[in-house]
Amino acid sequence: MDIHEYQAKEILQGFGVKVPPGGLAYSPEQATYRAHEIGGDKWVVKAQVHTGGRGKAGGVKVCSDEHEVFDAANAMFGKKLVTHQSGPAGKIVYRVYIEGGVEIERELYLGFVLDRSTERIMVVASSEGGMEIEEIAEDEPESIVRSLIDPAVGLTEFQAREIAFELGITGKQMQQAVATIMGSYRAFRDLDATMVEINPLVLTTDGNILALDAKMGFDDNAMFRRPEISELRDKSQEDPRETRAADRGLSYVGLEGNIGCIVNGAGLAMATMDMIKTSGGEPANFLDIGGGASPERVAKAFRLVRSDENVDAILVNIFAGINRCDWVAEGVVEALTNNPVDVPVIVRLAGTNVDEGRQIIADSGLPILMATTLSEAAKISVGSCPRHEDKINHTAEAA
Ligand code: GDP
Ligand code: MN
Repeated sequence: MDIHEYQAKEILQGFGVKVPPGGLAYSPEQATYRAHEIGGDKWVVKAQVHTGGRGKAGGVKVCSDEHEVFDAANAMFGKKLVTHQSGPAGKIVYRVYIEGGVEIERELYLGFVLDRSTERIMVVASSEGGMEIEEIAEDEPESIVRSLIDPAVGLTEFQAREIAFELGITGKQMQQAVATIMGSYRAFRDLDATMVEINPLVLTTDGNILALDAKMGFDDNAMFRRPEISELRDKSQEDPRETRAADRGLSYVGLEGNIGCIVNGAGLAMATMDMIKTSGGEPANFLDIGGGASPERVAKAFRLVRSDENVDAILVNIFAGINRCDWVAEGVVEALTNNPVDVPVIVRLAGTNVDEGRQIIADSGLPILMATTLSEAAKISVGSCPRHEDKINHTAEAA
């Protein structure tokens, strides 16, 4: 789960990280009021969307009077911000954050991520902030400092000091830098975050260290014990397909292709997507409906997959171990009888009571294409709908 910049800043501030003064606005009038409250003679109007790269896409505007603040906010509200990180669908701006302007001397990068290979939290920092970490890795790889945190000890002050030193921080700013690094780490650890990124972390001309931008991501599976974080969820920023799935308790990841997948088990769902790709197709989604695929869950899964208008065929792949194929088949028949679909449906069943399951589908009279093996199911699915690439080219030509 991701949160907005202003929310991440509020959280980090609670852990001792310094941020510029700021306020949230839902209208241009509120934006000017916020600027007035903050005072000073320079403000930054920032679109609050769950994506990075706002600066280059017109989502960050530096303003020097209240009219400019009004106009900048007015131009952002309701607009779709497409950044190189947001994907072509972009994100709509419903909230803007107004911040007091800051005189920047130097921009740094500070991030915390989970390093899978060592199973530890890793601090990633660079003296070349402002640009994205991928760009820094391209252009200035030697500026990147990586430091692994021992889970038994946690981040030590000594370690934080070492990181700050490598960023070129000295003198009076050292204490502030250590507080920033330690605070960000504590926020990460205490709130089940999966990512904290402060980019840029700035040294100001008057000698302060401030988080000018902040991003946090959290572990969805830990949100049951973090109600104060769950509350920050903003569904307007999520892929609507994934929001619907989460609300129905299904594990769904929306993808770009056109073959919808309904599968029981995460591993089998991965294998199904691989097989579709091997057969020359593109999956529209990952979907694991769980081991106990009841008729209700199957019906929910169909509704969810069909709500994606890119779907040209639906592949149902069920391996019944604990479950029973006849039961799943009943669910498929029930779902398709109550809500007929206008795209080909390919079903592959395997495991317990497979013959009974196939019989139920055959007897239903529904236009379901049966497959015996997964590779056969994938081939039929790919063969029964337009190629994803052709569709894209076609759309591009039409546009
Ligand atoms: P992002 O593009 O989504 O990562 O948005 P950021 O919040 O990182 O802002 C992009 C850039 O705008 C920063 O790297 C800064 O260079 C600039 N910026 C943001 N706030 C201020 C400010 O208060 N003063 C000045 N001079 N520049 C700012
Ligand atoms: Mn940034």
